[in-house]
Amino acid sequence: PRDTTDIVIIGSGGAGLSAAVAAHDKGAKVIVLEKEPLVGGNTKLAAGGMNAALTKQQKAKGIEDSLELMTEDTMKGGRNINDPALVEVLVTHSAGSVDWLTGLGADLNDVGRMGGASVNRTHRPTGGAGVGAHVVQVLYDNAEKREIDIRFNSRAVEILEDDNGQVRGVLVKGGHTGYYWIKADAVVVATGGFARNNERVASLDPKLKGFAATNHPGATGDGLDVASNAGAAMKDLEYIQAHPTLSVAGGVMVTEAVRGNGAILVNREGDRFVNEITTRDKASAAILEQTGKTAFLIFDDSVRHSLKKIERYIELGVVPSNSSLKALGDSLGINGAELEKSVARYNEFVAAGKDGDFARPNMPRSLNQGNFYAIEVTPAVHHTMGGVKIDNHGEVVSTEGKVIKGMFAAGEVTGGVHGANRLGGNAISDIVTFGRMAGENAAAFVKK
Ligand code: ADP
Repeated sequence: PRDTTDIVIIGSGGAGLSAAVAAHDKGAKVIVLEKEPLVGGNTKLAAGGMNAALTKQQKAKGIEDSLELMTEDTMKGGRNINDPALVEVLVTHSAGSVDWLTGLGADLNDVGRMGGASVNRTHRPTGGAGVGAHVVQVLYDNAEKREIDIRFNSRAVEILEDDNGQVRGVLVKGGHTGYYWIKADAVVVATGGFARNNERVASLDPKLKGFAATNHPGATGDGLDVASNAGAAMKDLEYIQAHPTLSVAGGVMVTEAVRGNGAILVNREGDRFVNEITTRDKASAAILEQTGKTAFLIFDDSVRHSLKKIERYIELGVVPSNSSLKALGDSLGINGAELEKSVARYNEFVAAGKDGDFARPNMPRSLNQGNFYAIEVTPAVHHTMGGVKIDNHGEVVSTEGKVIKGMFAAGEVTGGVHGANRLGGNAISDIVTFGRMAGENAAAFVKK
């Protein structure tokens, strides 16, 4: 081997960095491999927040939540095929993971709500900064402070095992160095999902052939092959989530928080057609039924000023605006008169506290202040629910149903946590909790 360490962590997204910091703090020596030239994977694009129940932040805001409610929401969102043991880990450790990140320097003090949640439990930075970029920055700073060895342009191509099936190292293809191997007794596979690989996506769900993706270029799923070649079982690969709102003009994902903070969705006829904050699969399916398979997010200045991220979309030039709703609609090929009526009707529902058309549970503000805005959106592949099969210690399970000694996995590369459909805000929670647990358990394993 060219190097020797205790644990090799494959991937530098939220799961890999959490594992790296946690394993280091349990006394293990780690090397992180990242095939891309930069840190953060898809995690750095995450815009929503981090779901957690019974946190100090919720308490400070008087929000009542419970572990049962978060479990119920997560299972319902996942159409009840989630692995209950993994959901229990996600839920019971969620507040602890927020504390852990806060202890490392994160700000998760703002608490909002995303689709499929019964109460406000999506923790995010104050002032509307993107949660993923913030979490990656905090974890990366902590990794640097600990002098953790992170190698960019370094792809893990094979997990090496001895005759007893115990992990002994990883074969690496370095961008400049060529192939070499690292000797290690444990590996954490944290390589993320495969939404960006449309061939793989369409082979599993033909309906998604040719779909755009919201993901970073590295989300190709080669980590799945690395794990599978080392004997790992796969779970729920066919469940692939489309995010309902990719900007048609800009190709950027428009965060669910725009709807959570009050935007509505209308079609070209100017009508609402769905509870805007339903689960992602339902919202996506509803948009695909509309004329031209697109819809428009409509909001006003009060929504704009509630969410910093919206300024970014405005800078990108994908948010036409007008002081008149009718004129805004007409300029975009939406029936402007009908749009005006739909917004007035929605505002009555807000005032009455009850959505008489689609039973939208959360209507934080009426749409009647200042300028009006529209973003044309269409669904795109966003998250791959399935992946490597793990147990509730983060250990990888083989195709024979046995734990593979020394092989751990965490984050989007795994299957089971989210069932058939992931709730917004549960990804950051997943990667931090499972990344940390995999790192700690890998550290305990190599000490034995
Ligand atoms: P998660 O949210 O589960 O942490 P991310 O997508 O944020 O997932 O991070 C996964 C990271 O793993 C990405 O930065 C990706 O480039 C990297 N990666 C994927 N496959 C490999 C591989 N074979 N070797 C090294 N890094 C990989």
